[in-house]
Amino acid sequence: MSLANGLSYLAIPGPSVFPERVLRAMQRAAPNIYYGELPDMVPGIVDRLKGIARTKAHCAIYICNGHGAWEAAVSNCFSPGDLVLIPATGRFAHGWADIARAMGVKAEVMDFGKRDTIDLDRVKTRLAADDEGRIKAVMAVQTDTSTGIRNDIPALRKTMDETGHPALLMVDCMASFGCDRFEMDAWGVDVMITGSQKGLMTPPGLGFVYFSDKADQARERARCVTHYWDWRPRVDPPMFYRYFDGTAPTHHLYALDEALSMIMEEGVENVWARHATLSQAIWAAFDHWGQDGPLEINVTPIDLRSHSVTAIRAGSEKGTALRNWCEDHAGLTLGIGLGMALDTAPEWHHFFRLGHMGHINAQMILGALATIEAGLNAVDLPHTKGGVVAAAEIIAASTQNL
Ligand SMILES: *Cc1c(COP(=O)(O)O)cnc(C)c1O
Repeated sequence: MSLANGLSYLAIPGPSVFPERVLRAMQRAAPNIYYGELPDMVPGIVDRLKGIARTKAHCAIYICNGHGAWEAAVSNCFSPGDLVLIPATGRFAHGWADIARAMGVKAEVMDFGKRDTIDLDRVKTRLAADDEGRIKAVMAVQTDTSTGIRNDIPALRKTMDETGHPALLMVDCMASFGCDRFEMDAWGVDVMITGSQKGLMTPPGLGFVYFSDKADQARERARCVTHYWDWRPRVDPPMFYRYFDGTAPTHHLYALDEALSMIMEEGVENVWARHATLSQAIWAAFDHWGQDGPLEINVTPIDLRSHSVTAIRAGSEKGTALRNWCEDHAGLTLGIGLGMALDTAPEWHHFFRLGHMGHINAQMILGALATIEAGLNAVDLPHTKGGVVAAAEIIAASTQNL
């Protein structure tokens, strides 16, 4: 028998759960793309996108997924032969490096493994040795979605400043935007990329590239830039169609507008605080289950753990069995382990992820954790019982001061 019918929770982690309000906003006939409601709506969308990123810089919107946003950023900043430094703390930095290389950019990857954050001393030494200023940018991921590591972007900025190196700081916030604190201007970030389908609770299909005036100076010299990826015409265009270099992504814009309204109604600080508290509940559960038995959160130090995705080491091939059980019997779809082991190796089954980004609340997380505890029992994966109680205590304590 399956108990999966009812509201399901897709925690893979992206696309994330779409709110009913967002889905309803898309339920309409095609709008006029030349004047009226839709064109009038877009400047307000851009303003709120900038507000969430805490920036007065520019924001270009593309019809694309995260890979497209990666390519857009590279295209506007570099010429073939340019050198970039990419500190990697999981799969996604390598993905950005692959895109840069395909465009003729030399991507020097500094690999910090799958469980650690960026070693800032190594970055500092490398930048200090670059006295000819060949490195054009440091490209880092805030939250790596494969490992669950959340890198300290202000600390990376400080390291760059200490060497006086002029490289741009470019940050991938695909998995963290709208979940974890990010302050583009205060943190001195030159380029930030994100997308619609994770913390922004909107279907995949919109990519966002934020860029500072300093980054736009790099655009002046960049020879990788093409007509479609050029960010300049997409900012304050005199003709509406130039925002998107063609037909606007009509229904995605209605969806995004609604999602941004939801974020504004809650307040960005509250959105971040909700993700932080729900994350603590998740960590409490997994840390409890792991006291006795093989289960372990991939990232040990709490300050390096993402507030939007948690990667788990199940310590046995039962990781996949647990994931299947949760989906088939309880309507909870966990994420596969990404980039942790070859998909042909038995170890591939040792990993899974829980996405907790965007439209998630306490009852969903407690439900997901209780489902996982039931699944641990069902597939006979050894653990210390009571992780859900530990999570419930965090949730209860979080309201004590209200
Ligand atoms: C999801 C994600 C991407 C890629 O996005 P796609 O839409 O799959 O192309 C890039 N970087 C990070 C950190 C992500 O989480």
